[in-house]
Amino acid sequence: MSPRPVLRFAPSPNGELHLGHALSALIGFDMARRLGGRFLVRIEDIDTTRCREEYVTGIFEDLTWLGVTWEEPVLRQSEHFTTYSAASDWLLKLGLLYPCFATRSEISEATETAPTALDPDGTPLYPGLHKQLPKEEIATRLARNEPFALRLHMDRALDALEGITGSRLVTFAELGEDGIARRVEMNPADWGDAVIVRKDVPASYHLAVTVDDGRQGVTHVTRGRDLYAATSLHRLLQVVLGLPEPVYHHHRLLTDEAGRKLAKSEGDTSLRELRETGVDALRLRRRLGLSSDAAEASVQNPS
Ligand code: GLU
Repeated sequence: MSPRPVLRFAPSPNGELHLGHALSALIGFDMARRLGGRFLVRIEDIDTTRCREEYVTGIFEDLTWLGVTWEEPVLRQSEHFTTYSAASDWLLKLGLLYPCFATRSEISEATETAPTALDPDGTPLYPGLHKQLPKEEIATRLARNEPFALRLHMDRALDALEGITGSRLVTFAELGEDGIARRVEMNPADWGDAVIVRKDVPASYHLAVTVDDGRQGVTHVTRGRDLYAATSLHRLLQVVLGLPEPVYHHHRLLTDEAGRKLAKSEGDTSLRELRETGVDALRLRRRLGLSSDAAEASVQNPS
């Protein structure tokens, strides 16, 4: 018997949720219902300086208003740093990470002098400043308590990937809007020596999301198309960490009249404001182009 599907909505509480989040949460929730699966909410709050408790409370209020129900307890990433450290220790042991003490300005100065290709997010690839630091220098800097990030040694990670799968590319099943899954092939090298453990917290988005999807048994990752390219890095980490491979569905993004993606940082109308002005959740579903069946079912049978 195949295991019961597990889906999740994984917001970061660094601002109020907007319509784009409502679309994402509802797409995941509806798919969980259609598949007879479980639905989880995960609070992605590793960025302890930007995340705020009031936003966490707001997320639960917004989701309840949307008619979304989820399993308790909710995993909060800030409570699981030791789990991410265990994963990064393992990657270190495999020789796939190295410390990088370089500051942001040292890195940007280096890429201004000798430009590197851009990663899929448009950031210049890490120019390798601290890739070959002698052991003694690493020891001296560590003894001085200099802050450092841990970066993926991409070449070695690709060697490890090839050793396990026979290829330096990753593949995954992407569920299209038509509900058909297609196998996609991607090149994780596009990300270069990505940061796996940040300087300020013992994790990074890429590490925490991969570890958590794995240990929570998430079978279907539903999230916006803005994270499509990051999936190559997540698949690479899954393979080298021995984590299972989920199916992915990267859904459409909502844009404003100017074609910009909605973003909390740009002050797009928050769900709280919509809620407070009396918009009802079923109308919101229709506005988002979603069927109202799942909402009606959850309104009639609150679980
Ligand atoms: N926490 C991420 C965000 O709020 C989403 C992570 C994911 O779905 O993989 O953008």
